[in-house]
Amino acid sequence: MPKFSASIKSKLPKVGTTIFSKMSALAATEKALNLSQGFPDFDCSPALTSLGTKAMNSGMNQYAPMPGLISLREQIAQKTEELYTGVYHPETEITITAGATQAIFTAILATVAENDEVVIFTPAYDCYEPAIDLVGAKAIHIELQGPEYRIDWEQVKKVISQRTRMIIINTPHNPTGTIMSAQDMQKLEKLLHNTDILVLSDEVYEHIIFDGYDHQSVARFPKLAERSFIVSSFGKTYHTTGWKIGYCLAPAELMKEFRKAHQYNVFSVHTPSQQAYSEYLATSNDHLELKEFYQHKRDLFRDSIKSSRFQLGETAGSYFQLLDYSKISEEDDITFAERLTKEFKIASIPTSVFYSRKVDEKVLRFCFAKKDETLLQAAEIINSI
Ligand code: PMP
Ligand code: GLN
Repeated sequence: MPKFSASIKSKLPKVGTTIFSKMSALAATEKALNLSQGFPDFDCSPALTSLGTKAMNSGMNQYAPMPGLISLREQIAQKTEELYTGVYHPETEITITAGATQAIFTAILATVAENDEVVIFTPAYDCYEPAIDLVGAKAIHIELQGPEYRIDWEQVKKVISQRTRMIIINTPHNPTGTIMSAQDMQKLEKLLHNTDILVLSDEVYEHIIFDGYDHQSVARFPKLAERSFIVSSFGKTYHTTGWKIGYCLAPAELMKEFRKAHQYNVFSVHTPSQQAYSEYLATSNDHLELKEFYQHKRDLFRDSIKSSRFQLGETAGSYFQLLDYSKISEEDDITFAERLTKEFKIASIPTSVFYSRKVDEKVLRFCFAKKDETLLQAAEIINSI
């Protein structure tokens, strides 16, 4: 291939390959245990894959309707109402997307304009800021302070202005494992009263929440929900991150704008997977069992590393555990994470990548969506560091 010789004006000059791709690739070449990128090392339910192949074999191989299969949207509406009392109309207020990533991107693309400001809380999941940059808007960062990583609403009040178009929240939170409380939601609701500010609520770990806490979905708070896009992902709930199916909920007026972008962004997403989820959701209650399933893994992992030299952060939700290594090494977190992968054969994610200003708190993120045997193997390594 000849070399492109004209100059490229990058729209994302700060962006390289994501840390998830990098660390998973390093784990593979180093034959290290991969607790870096967040995905299960166990399979999804065979009933779900059977439904997927059944859909393909029965000819469901053409475009789905632009907003998604109505049967699946109906299942989502029912589940959202049962769990959170929020009522979303399947025809006009729910859209099936290519994972939560596309839902997030599309919500921003559809509603945030050049020079608008979008408030994000760092450490933040990595796809928010590039989407904000691509529409020419400006990310306003509020840094959450460890080890609690709680939102200080007074600080939020200080940064919002006429220029603020959107606030992005994420509960349970990646990478810290914190959750927002009902009081947090009420404070946000009050703060945004009488403003035009939209909320994008990333709730992909809605069913992975521990110690008896309930997920405080924006859908529980009608005054907040009326200005919000809520995104979720079947990948997290059904152990199918590779199917890349998620969804977005929003009031009809907002969803109308979302779909204007969605229809030219992807038009519609993988039909057989949507059919499989739709039939699966009709009969399974797996999402309700996920709390216990992952609490067992969280507890097993934490218990088996409690005497290591790492300090454990609290994980109230998500499938991530933060480990502080400040008593072990002074290396920066990227160097340390790479060294652990190469020398100790265990891969994690350095948390500095979740900040815009590289904040090195000497904390690594480990994913515990793994078989028990993998977690015990990981613990053995961690205890030897
Ligand atoms: N938001 C958060 C907080 C995530 O952790 C992830 C992926 N792990 C996503 C969004 C993207 O989800 P999906 O894989 O469905 O695109
Ligand atoms: N969300 C996953 C994580 O936080 C990664 C998804 C991805 O690789 N883009 O690890």
